Amino acid sequence: MTAKRITEVLQKKAVGITINPYQMMLQQLDLARVHTSIPDGIWKILRSPERSLEVSIPIIRDDGEIEVFTGYRVQYSSARGPCKGGIRYHPGVTLDEVKALAGWMTWKCAVANVPYGGAKGGVVCDPTRLSEREVERLTRCYTARILPIIGPKQDIPAPDVNTNASIMNWIVDTASQLRGEAVPGIVTGKSIELGGALGRVEATGRGVMFITIGVLQRLGIDLSHATIAVQGFGNAGSVAARLLSKQGGKVVGLSDISGGYYCSEGFDVDDVVRYVKGSPGHLLAGYNASGIEEITNEELFTLDVDVLIPAALEAQITSQNAARVRANVIIEAANGPTTPEADVILAENEIVVVPDILANAGGVVCSYFEWVQNIQCLPWEEEETNQRLGKVMQRALREVLDLSKERNISLRLAAFVLGVERVAQAAILRGVFL
Ligand code: GLU
Repeated sequence: MTAKRITEVLQKKAVGITINPYQMMLQQLDLARVHTSIPDGIWKILRSPERSLEVSIPIIRDDGEIEVFTGYRVQYSSARGPCKGGIRYHPGVTLDEVKALAGWMTWKCAVANVPYGGAKGGVVCDPTRLSEREVERLTRCYTARILPIIGPKQDIPAPDVNTNASIMNWIVDTASQLRGEAVPGIVTGKSIELGGALGRVEATGRGVMFITIGVLQRLGIDLSHATIAVQGFGNAGSVAARLLSKQGGKVVGLSDISGGYYCSEGFDVDDVVRYVKGSPGHLLAGYNASGIEEITNEELFTLDVDVLIPAALEAQITSQNAARVRANVIIEAANGPTTPEADVILAENEIVVVPDILANAGGVVCSYFEWVQNIQCLPWEEEETNQRLGKVMQRALREVLDLSKERNISLRLAAFVLGVERVAQAAILRGVFL
């Protein structure tokens, strides 16, 4: 796929999203309300982001022209601790999307019980049309513009869609230069040499693996007999696919914005990862192996599999396609992939949905470990990180499963109730600043 074609697909997708993610997040929140006893005033606090910043980002393009991009940083809540959440680079970024993502980060950190509030950042751009040097200039300028509100004790960014360790490294460097002191703890997900945590790159996918194994166990399904389809082959999807197949699961469906493939015998996921690393735009398009057939993204959702893992963007499973989903379990590696309308249809069809704020929390849990290591100037072994990650994810899963059983509510409702009640409790204890 050429860079121009990729942009066309991304823009079409961005335009095609008529569902407002912020409204979606608020709808999910409101549905949880009747299952809590949170007072009205506190509820009003929980429904509004604390701070939304919009910045312009002028950069000099490689051809000498000046181009001005738009960026956002939203701090949804700092009730439980410093705000925390990634930064995404995507042409479809909007303020409402960033608000929604910042809200989901707030509930996610509370479900995982890490001492953070929630935030998110985004820049409206198509990184596939920018050179590496242009991405660096964009990142440095965005950092300078949001610097007044970020910091190890204020708000700690991290990678998200289309951002990675190199981008985090430029943020650390820009912030350290401007502040005149080393601030490695200002972001997580940076390179190991700059204070990154061993295991962070794989942590979201590893968390998805822990949750998938745990949920299948509860349902009495053996992973070695389970078939899996994954939508999205970025950091979360590719690592989840690789680790689950390593544990014995059969990954039979894979897709990304360039299309998808089905393989009844199960993919050699390591081979797919190798191909994507070297392919133009790091996409699946053009992958070839024996026994595979091409499918569309839409077809991937309707595969007859045990586990479906949406690992791309918001609002992928909607009222339009939910009735055709045939998986037994959906594990949300992406943020906000299922709309509330789709949730109703999936519940009617007895499909278990493991919500994003639990399923993909592995990334931020490991970010927390990285931040702790930065504060203590004491790096951990990768094994320690992975073990602790497993414990945190298993505890969060157990708490959500137990609450869901106790109250006879869906896993999404249970996760929201657990997370929102923890945030509300912190808000009550802190009181209102006069
Ligand atoms: N972007 C990831 C998420 O959505 C990780 C955020 C973080 O580590 O702060 O959970």
